[in-house]
Amino acid sequence: MNTAYGPVISLFLLCAAAPAQPRPVDPVLAPSPAPEVPIAASAPGPVVSGGRLAALDVSESARLARLRPSDPASYLELGEELLATPDSPERVDMTRQLLVRALEYGRTRPEHRRTAASAAIALASMSKREGDRLWLRSIAAILEPSSTEFAPARRAMELESQAAANRASLFLTQLRAGAGIEARESLAASGVRQVLERHERELSALGTISVQHLENEARKWPCTDCNSTGIIAPSKGQRGAARLCPVCGGQPGMKLNAADLAAQLRLQRRLMGTVSEPWGSMIATEGAPPARDPDPANVATAFLVDVKLSVWRDDQWSLPDSPAPVP
Ligand SMILES: [Zn+2]
Repeated sequence: MNTAYGPVISLFLLCAAAPAQPRPVDPVLAPSPAPEVPIAASAPGPVVSGGRLAALDVSESARLARLRPSDPASYLELGEELLATPDSPERVDMTRQLLVRALEYGRTRPEHRRTAASAAIALASMSKREGDRLWLRSIAAILEPSSTEFAPARRAMELESQAAANRASLFLTQLRAGAGIEARESLAASGVRQVLERHERELSALGTISVQHLENEARKWPCTDCNSTGIIAPSKGQRGAARLCPVCGGQPGMKLNAADLAAQLRLQRRLMGTVSEPWGSMIATEGAPPARDPDPANVATAFLVDVKLSVWRDDQWSLPDSPAPVP
């Protein structure tokens, strides 16, 4: 395991030890009082308003309204489609709401356990914390032992993204070492440029270094005189001491000030420690999972999703048999 996970896991353990806190509710976004919809203090329902729906298109909204807990796969399918375009916090939150419900409504019924496992894997792929990802993958494996294999496309995408993130980190190291040929190879590797572009703001302390800048820098190296070794050895047959390369001053590679170097090292730690799909790392469990037992029954609580509210009606998750709110 990468040592960069250390602080993340410590943080996670701290969170796990804390009692569940209700999420702060923005009074502007809070739904108008709806006494017929009980919201447990320990697991507040989603804060919803018309603004939520604005994040979905007409066809998505129509499908959302048709979802019923008897068909958990329909929650999963809509959730996975929203997951493909996580372009607003509302869509990300709705995705989480849908996946948690797919898992919850499927987990106790043998014919739907596969759906529940897929939902756990999708939640894992969205999770910010390594601890959450491992926990959700374990849950998927309990629900459906072969689940880690039946999502090969997603798993492959994840591995590929992690490989690109690792290579992007290597690229920065190579550039600072003046290994221009190797750096150019890394930059040309699949997905690396995209990773760097996504994190362009983090390539320097003040956002002043662009990917183009790095590419230009990579072309300057290795040092023409010392081949980026930093020293000029005496010619064959000649005696004498090696001397510092006069061209690069004995310090081949991209020059950075201390603040920019620190920014790059921070970015590299993140790249090495996290999967960085565009749709990855968007959610975290918000409650306190009661112990870290990979028990499928704990997922809804951990994500603070009130799964009793199973039906989307009038822009909010509602009880299936509750009457429509009086206008
Ligand atoms: Zn040199």
